[in-house]
Amino acid sequence: MSEVTTATKNKKIPVISISRKIIQFLSFFVINYAILEWIFNADFSILDNYARVLPFLHSANSAWTQGAGLLEYSFYMIATGRIPYLFVGILGLLGLFSGRIFCGWVCPTGFMQDLFGGLGGDSRLSLEADQFLKKVKSFFLIVLLFLFTLILIFFKTDPDLHQQWLESLGSMAYNALEPISMSEFLFVTLPNIITTAVDNGGSLTGIFGGTFKTIIFVIYVLIIIASAVYPRFYCKYMCPYAATIKVFSNYSFLKLQRMPTRCPGRKECGVCEQICPMQIRILEEPFSGFTGDGECTLCLDCMQQCPHDAIKWKFGFN
Ligand code: SF4
Ligand code: SF4
Repeated sequence: MSEVTTATKNKKIPVISISRKIIQFLSFFVINYAILEWIFNADFSILDNYARVLPFLHSANSAWTQGAGLLEYSFYMIATGRIPYLFVGILGLLGLFSGRIFCGWVCPTGFMQDLFGGLGGDSRLSLEADQFLKKVKSFFLIVLLFLFTLILIFFKTDPDLHQQWLESLGSMAYNALEPISMSEFLFVTLPNIITTAVDNGGSLTGIFGGTFKTIIFVIYVLIIIASAVYPRFYCKYMCPYAATIKVFSNYSFLKLQRMPTRCPGRKECGVCEQICPMQIRILEEPFSGFTGDGECTLCLDCMQQCPHDAIKWKFGFN
């Protein structure tokens, strides 16, 4: 019976993954709408006010979006003495009501990683390494929050010290996520390096802008290579947006559930766990609904590939 179901399922057109790729592709251009302006010689400046508050980890330095993401703005506000209640509230509501669907269906950095992953790599880290590294992104975020909370306190208590800290942090004071933002690398640093190299007639001399930036460049090249080998490497282990929204998406209204009457378990099947790009231990999650500790991006690969149609949507906070 299960073989018949498997064969039938495998013949289905992968409607979900085709739809997701189309939405990711369109989102990439809408978010980076300056590319569309360039291609069609059009003026989409009307989008400026909206692009600036998209819940996307986007650099204020990007010439392609002319805006920055909610998280970037939140850190910027803290650095300049304000508490970003509204932005954090929006992030919280997004996570609580839509989980991490943004990561799976919209985020251009996620889309780029899916493209790199499309080169064929589908490796998995060991369970222990995966669990440990998933905590790394939260660690980066906590360190940044600690640092910027100090800056906020200095703003209120000692303006001179506040100014000294801002000066010693340099550009990072106003763009806190710069060193750990793959978006910054893909959409700002890399295009800048390429255009500088072209302007220099192909010479690589001085195009990285100093030792620190050269190290960052090498690290990101390694992350891209890792993303081609391990699906969604950056999302799983480094992304500060993921580290923030997972706190809320862990309790998301929108999630998935697994039907106990249909799923024969890991020994007889286990397809879902083998294909999950976020390496979620789906079969150890509760039947009543799961978010994989807030890591599930609702890409729906597991739902599409499940040979027994055992994975369904679940709406509800419990
Ligand atoms: S939920 Fe996973 S293990 Fe269960 S039937 Fe579906 S793919 Fe197989
Ligand atoms: S659990 Fe399913 S929907 Fe969530 S990330 Fe894994 S494959 Fe995608």
